[in-house]
Amino acid sequence: MTSESQITAWLATQHDAMITLLREMVDIDSGSYNKPGIDAVGAVVQRFMAAQGIPIQITQQRNHGDTVRAVVPWDGPAGNAGGNIVLMGHRDTVFPDGEVSRRPFTIRDGIAYGPGVADMKAGLVMNCFVLAAFHKFGGSPAPLVGLFTGDEEIGSPEGRAVIEAEARRARVVFNSEPGRVSGNVVTGRKGGVFSAFRITGKAAHSGGNFSEGISAIEEIARKIQAIHALTDLDRGITLNVGLISGGQSVNTVAPWAEAQIDLRYVEPGDRDDAMARIAAIIERSYVPGTKAELTVKGEFLPLVQTPTAKRLFEIYVQAAADTGFTTAGEFTGGCADSGFTAGVGTPTICAVGPVGGKAHSPDEFLRVESLVPRAQACARAILRLDQAGL
Ligand SMILES: [Zn+2]
Repeated sequence: MTSESQITAWLATQHDAMITLLREMVDIDSGSYNKPGIDAVGAVVQRFMAAQGIPIQITQQRNHGDTVRAVVPWDGPAGNAGGNIVLMGHRDTVFPDGEVSRRPFTIRDGIAYGPGVADMKAGLVMNCFVLAAFHKFGGSPAPLVGLFTGDEEIGSPEGRAVIEAEARRARVVFNSEPGRVSGNVVTGRKGGVFSAFRITGKAAHSGGNFSEGISAIEEIARKIQAIHALTDLDRGITLNVGLISGGQSVNTVAPWAEAQIDLRYVEPGDRDDAMARIAAIIERSYVPGTKAELTVKGEFLPLVQTPTAKRLFEIYVQAAADTGFTTAGEFTGGCADSGFTAGVGTPTICAVGPVGGKAHSPDEFLRVESLVPRAQACARAILRLDQAGL
C-alpha cells in the first residue's frame, strides 16, 4: 500500500480517539492569560507525542503558554527536504477561567460544544493525528513539524518570534484554525493592531470649581470620533474603539480616561499610514491642557495570497476533493498567526482545521464528522507538495 492509502485508512479508524483527545483538551480552561491552563493543554500534546514516540521541544515563555514543537523525523535523504512542513495551532482560548465547569465538552446530534472546541482545539487534535500518521507510515516529503503555541488570541506577543523563526525555515505552513461552516479554508486575512491610549486631564469640583478642571472625558470623546472617522470600508480599513473607561465621580471634571483601539486593514502598505493618523490624533489636544499617550498592545500581519500560496491552496482543494468534500478559499477580517508565517514569505494556508463556527461565543460548535476528513485532506496535501513543486 502507498503512504496515502495507509495514512487515510488509519486516520479513518481514529475518530473515537480524536474525540477522546478533544474532550480532554476542551475540558481544561486555557484563556490567553491562564499560563498554567495553556501549559496543561501543552502537557496533553506532549503525552500524546510521547505515546507515539515523536520527539518534543519546548520553548518556555514567561507570561503565556510555552511553545510546544513536535518533529516527525524525515525518512528521506538528508539536506534535501527544502525546509520543514509546519502544522500550526494555538492552545489558548478567549474564555475566562470557570467556563469549562459552566459548559464542559458535550456532543449533541453530531455537534460538539465547549470553550475552544472549534477555535482551535479540534485543529490541535487534527494536527496531532496527522503527525502520528506520518510517523507510523512515513511518506512525508520533508520533516513534519507540529507547532503548538500559547498566546494567539491576544496577538502572540511571546509566540510570534518562535512562529516567525519556524516559518523562515519552512517550505509551507498549514494553520489549523477552524474550517468555515461552508467547508471553505481561508486564503486572506486582514492585519490588525491593538493599541491603547490614556489621557490625563485635571480634576476639579464640577460645581464649585468647574473652570479649573480639564476634562479627559471630553478629550477622549473627541479623539474617538476622530479615530472612528479614519474608517475606510472601501479599502477594508476599520477602526473600533472597543473599550473605554475614565473619570473619578459624577461631580468631578474627569482627570483621566483611557480606551483601546482595534485597527484592521487589508493592504500591508496601509498599516503605517493608519497608525500615523492615529498617533496624530492622540498627540493633538482637542481640549487644551490634556495630554495623551499611545501604546501598541498586540499586532497581527495580514495574510496575503502569493502565487506559491495559491499553488498550495490548489493542492489542498484537490486533496479535499479526493477526500470527498469541496472547499474554496475565502477572505476574513479576523486575524491569525498565519499572517506572521505569510509575512516572512512562507506559503501558508489557513483554516484547514475541522469545520466549526460561532467562535469566541458560548454557541461555538464543531461538526464532529469533519474531524477525520479534514485530517485526511491535510495529509493528502502534504503528500503532494513535491509534485506541485512546493
Ligand atoms: Zn483561533
